[in-house]
Amino acid sequence: MRTLILFLSLLLPLSALALPKESRVPGGVALLPLKGINTAHLPSTWYRSNRVMVIPSINTEFADQAKWVAVVGIPLSAKITEQQHVRSEGTSFYFSIQDKAYEAQYLTVPNKRHVDPNPEDVARWQRERTKMNKAFVAWSEPSQPVTTFGLPTQGPFSSAFGLKRFFNEQPRKPHSGLDIAAPQGTPITAPAAGIVVDTGEYFFNGNTVIIDHGFGLTTLYCHMSRIDVTEGDQLKPGDIIGAVGKTGRVTGAHLHWSVSLNNTRVDPTLFLSE
Ligand SMILES: [Zn+2]
Repeated sequence: MRTLILFLSLLLPLSALALPKESRVPGGVALLPLKGINTAHLPSTWYRSNRVMVIPSINTEFADQAKWVAVVGIPLSAKITEQQHVRSEGTSFYFSIQDKAYEAQYLTVPNKRHVDPNPEDVARWQRERTKMNKAFVAWSEPSQPVTTFGLPTQGPFSSAFGLKRFFNEQPRKPHSGLDIAAPQGTPITAPAAGIVVDTGEYFFNGNTVIIDHGFGLTTLYCHMSRIDVTEGDQLKPGDIIGAVGKTGRVTGAHLHWSVSLNNTRVDPTLFLSE
């Protein structure tokens, strides 16, 4: 067995970096080799008004094409008729996207204010959204970039990312994360290293944690029964951050897990390492 491991480690460089699965669709991820950008420093790269993750191409499938690879989150609202534009160190890169048909989902939530919030609820939600948006644009540069995740809790996927949603028959924003159904109290763990950049008890999201994994990659955990971390906590993969619950706008206990790249919520399943 030891000989086999030694043999495999000679074939696979230990530092090989697994990239997210590429999917050039609304809600997906584009992997863009930044051909011609040969800076020694991390190239400053932007999509729309957000800074974009860039990683060295060494030990990736793009190693012979470019020195750097941009990992770009594409919003669900992106139009397939428009060329997508990334700027890096004064150079423009363009790519096109394909359509993806997301299914509709009809949910009935018991608390009517979670469907038709009163003006006070709206004001509260706007304050909370501003606070969370600050966390989503966090930019840090850890020595080891995070590009894939394990699952943060155990359970069946109960709602996919991107579903067109109707609450009590009224159209609302599409589903910006992946729902994992699990009994109340099931531990939720950090799926990769990161820093806690926001916690709160929010109108729609209930008890919430946001983790910054670096280079514009953040993850969001909602509807928790309890929060076990505070802002500034440094997390290792597997550290417990809290437990599954049913706080906020829910139909039952589950974890809502969002993955955000360049302040854009994308399909979390593209990042699963298995
Ligand atoms: Zn959800």
